[in-house]
Amino acid sequence: MKILHATAEFYPYIKMGGLSDMLSSVTKEQSKTHETSVALPLIANLKKEPKFTGRVFSCIDLKSIIGSDSSKILSTSRFLEAEEGNVKLYFFDSPLFRDLPKIYENSDEHFRFALFSYACFHLSLLLKVDVFHAHDWHTALGVYFHDSSVDGLPTVFTIHNLAYQGDHPEWLCGFLKGEPFYLNIDLLKHAGKLNFLKGAVSVATKVTTVSPGYRNEVLGEPQGCGLSVNLSTRREDFVGILNGLDEEEWNPSTDTNIYKNYNVKNYIENKLENKISIFKEIKRDINPNRPIIGMIGRLTWQKGYETFLASYRNKWYHPFFYIFLGSGDEKMENELFHHSHYAQDRLFFLKGYDEEFARKIEAASDFFLMPSLFEPCGLNQMYSHRYGTVPIVSRVGGLKDTVVEDPFDIENSTGIIFEPGESHSLDFALDRANTLFKDTERFKNMQKRIMNLDWSWKSRVGEYYRVYNSAIRKKKFTAE
Ligand code: ADP
Repeated sequence: MKILHATAEFYPYIKMGGLSDMLSSVTKEQSKTHETSVALPLIANLKKEPKFTGRVFSCIDLKSIIGSDSSKILSTSRFLEAEEGNVKLYFFDSPLFRDLPKIYENSDEHFRFALFSYACFHLSLLLKVDVFHAHDWHTALGVYFHDSSVDGLPTVFTIHNLAYQGDHPEWLCGFLKGEPFYLNIDLLKHAGKLNFLKGAVSVATKVTTVSPGYRNEVLGEPQGCGLSVNLSTRREDFVGILNGLDEEEWNPSTDTNIYKNYNVKNYIENKLENKISIFKEIKRDINPNRPIIGMIGRLTWQKGYETFLASYRNKWYHPFFYIFLGSGDEKMENELFHHSHYAQDRLFFLKGYDEEFARKIEAASDFFLMPSLFEPCGLNQMYSHRYGTVPIVSRVGGLKDTVVEDPFDIENSTGIIFEPGESHSLDFALDRANTLFKDTERFKNMQKRIMNLDWSWKSRVGEYYRVYNSAIRKKKFTAE
């Protein structure tokens, strides 16, 4: 089977969040058995130099151009082929993206991503793939172009985060009615705007999201972010497939970013060395026998850090030391800076995005806290399992699909769970974490058990092939 993924992020070239890791790990697994390719924008600040093959592909059929601005831009853009293992990458080399230092938070995103999506649609026809697989709103219009075209291919659209839908004022999107798109925009209309994600949800041959738990949540509000009715009408074609991870990439026995490698045999001594080293690096004189809680993430409402702060402000008796890495909401950053400065024996905050330090936190921490209010899948709880770091998570989306806490079956629990948005529930969860940490034997057993969990794509990638095959069958059936 030939598959083309269209995405705004792909690790290690462009990473802003879980989408990037998911794309690179799932395509690595798919490329072992299928012809797998990925289209992504070429920006100024790629985190790795691509291995270009020298092959170049067009972004529009030059024969049919009359001369709109969109067509002109697409005709001066091209795809540059590169290789990443067995995966073929197609970098969209275009004046729209070439000079951008970062992929998001640029003006005119509606225009840039619409043209990128059209180029991906065109590329999938050139490459004659069997399935076009688009991810999130940035490439959602690629699905819509296929549905509007007589040559349209079977499409799969994956929602990684429904909170970002690419909804834009209609007057800004007039170009979509002209050359080369000639779109009927009716199905994009939603709540007084044009909504790119809603368009893909309405017409994709199959729709997926990144965990079964989140799939069920978004069929209702508020988790459906205004689209629960649209998703419900696609219920038969809408599945949740839990993300997997790249077990070679996230492996404490080979990770070159951490202070000391370890495995299930020597994790007790070596995790302690990681802990001592991180205290040295952050220049805090903390007793290494105290439990560390790691936290990494975007400081947005979604991640529920307000719940953490509410608990933190009140619970001075807890023995935990928090190491927090992230950036985003300024008010939250300021409060974290405040605690990091005035409570040096309780919390350390590093503002920024730092892949290496993130892995050091995973390796050094005893627990990892994710208080999300919603979480489509979440990856850090699975990375934490791999690194023998017990996750403490809220009962939402993919977190509740991947972490088990059963008071009647402690020996099979894989973390600690509390109620989303409830700081009192988090207080009790932290009390349980403290009790668990003090019960050294039980704590070590849990660490060993979670390190042995299998979160690889090997056992899960088949679910995507089932979706692809059923999309191909459905498209053929509706075309006949
Ligand atoms: P989301 O995609 O919603 O941001 P996920 O848990 O799915 O959340 O994935 C986030 C990924 O980004 C993880 O690999 C996480 O470690 C990483 N990450 C988030 N913030 C930072 C940061 N400040 N520095 C380094 N890595 C980060």
